[in-house]
Amino acid sequence: MNIGLVAHDAKKSLMQNLCIAYRGILSKHQLYATGTTGRLVEEVTNLHIYKYLSGTLGGIQQMGLQIEQNQMDMLIFLQDPLQPAAHEPALENILRLCDAHNIPCATNLATAEVLILALDQGYLDWRNYV
Ligand code: PGA
Repeated sequence: MNIGLVAHDAKKSLMQNLCIAYRGILSKHQLYATGTTGRLVEEVTNLHIYKYLSGTLGGIQQMGLQIEQNQMDMLIFLQDPLQPAAHEPALENILRLCDAHNIPCATNLATAEVLILALDQGYLDWRNYV
């Protein structure tokens, strides 16, 4: 499965810890991330991650394109609800695209863990047939 990772600046260390905790599951899948998120996760997990441009430089749009082309099976987007980013409209658009294309998407740690465990149990295998 193709899994997208994006984290607001205040949530990047949380994303690193999430990926450390679930490294064993994530390592069985193809990981894609916006530039900074991907680099930081790679540094602590040694997972191979395809890195888009940084979110502010168009990485969000690159990920959105992958969703539109039905090449993303799950998105973990750890948002900071207290500090909206300057490029918030692009970030909101990626969530809209997930809804439009029925892509499982987590925007907080609790849901991210549920999705990763569901992925490991095969509950997202239906994506292989879409
Ligand atoms: P980044 O993009 O991982 O490159 O920082 C995400 C964001 O812009 O919030």
